[in-house]
Amino acid sequence: MTTIIKGNDFASDLRGQIHRQTALLQENYGITPGLAVVLVGTDPASEIYVRNKTKQAIAAGMASFEHRLAASTSQQELLALLARLNENPAINGILVQLPLPARINPDSVINAIDPSKDVDGFHPVNVGLLVTGDNAMIPCTPLGCLMLLRHALGQQQQALAGLKALVLGRSNIVGKPMGALLVRESCTVTLAHSQTRNLADECRQADILIAAAGRPGLVKGDWIKPGATVIDVGINRIITATGRTRLVGDVDFDSALGIAGAMTPVPGGVGPMTIACLLHNTLKATLKQQGIPASNGILGP
Ligand code: NAD
Repeated sequence: MTTIIKGNDFASDLRGQIHRQTALLQENYGITPGLAVVLVGTDPASEIYVRNKTKQAIAAGMASFEHRLAASTSQQELLALLARLNENPAINGILVQLPLPARINPDSVINAIDPSKDVDGFHPVNVGLLVTGDNAMIPCTPLGCLMLLRHALGQQQQALAGLKALVLGRSNIVGKPMGALLVRESCTVTLAHSQTRNLADECRQADILIAAAGRPGLVKGDWIKPGATVIDVGINRIITATGRTRLVGDVDFDSALGIAGAMTPVPGGVGPMTIACLLHNTLKATLKQQGIPASNGILGP
């Protein structure tokens, strides 16, 4: 029997919790967390993401500042906007929606965000803190995966310790930070990628399998260790035999059913956790900037 890990329900609870804590912050300190979302250009998928992020920030009781810039915006103009957002005390979190137009160097943009407002957790300071310390701003998707893993395997501190984890994918936004987080949880971690040899055999060793390759149905049921916990990060749009489009993950869901001990579906698994964790990071950034300790009833790190 495979337990389906319901990311939708978990994310909805988390958003509710954040909303209550935001209200408490307003009540006790008169502070409203502010999130600035910057979109350059008109990429349709990015437009949807930005709209959802803004909507959910407002629903959680936060102030949202949307900056929509023309595709022709220069790197210099974007950096000037980020400098203003860094200085603005009403803004606690800054997110620049990726991908950016090819003319703009994403690294220089990420590096220009004040690390304390970097709610995506992509700034090199936060990347370093994730590896060396414990008070980093953690990238939203890996943070959401970790929350779901703890939900499935236990909340106590050592629940994941000693387990073998395989992360499929080594991108800066998912695979690498996921690997670092699992090392922090005392897992024995393998970071697999497109050059990995005997990938199926590597996967079969894993008690925890995180699939983030962006390849529809890559992970078959017989790649999965019986009873393993499987988190499917992949979001792939495929065209079915009937000509319709459908979202599928990186795990071949049907063949994994009955083998995995617990597994996230696509859609409705990791996806909704990403925005909920963005709100979590915005609240966390606000507390840190205001010097409010996490122990007084308001969300901890
Ligand atoms: P990416 O393309 O930057 O990285 C993919 C990684 O997978 C690379 O490291 C590559 O080496 C590896 N890979 C590709 N094909 C492989 C193969 N056949 N075998 C082994 N490894 C292989 O992608 P990304 O940005 O990390 O995203 C990965 C997937 O997760 C995508 O489907 C993306 O849409 C999805 N995603 C979902 C969320 C969410 O909120 N649920 C967030 C971010 C990304």
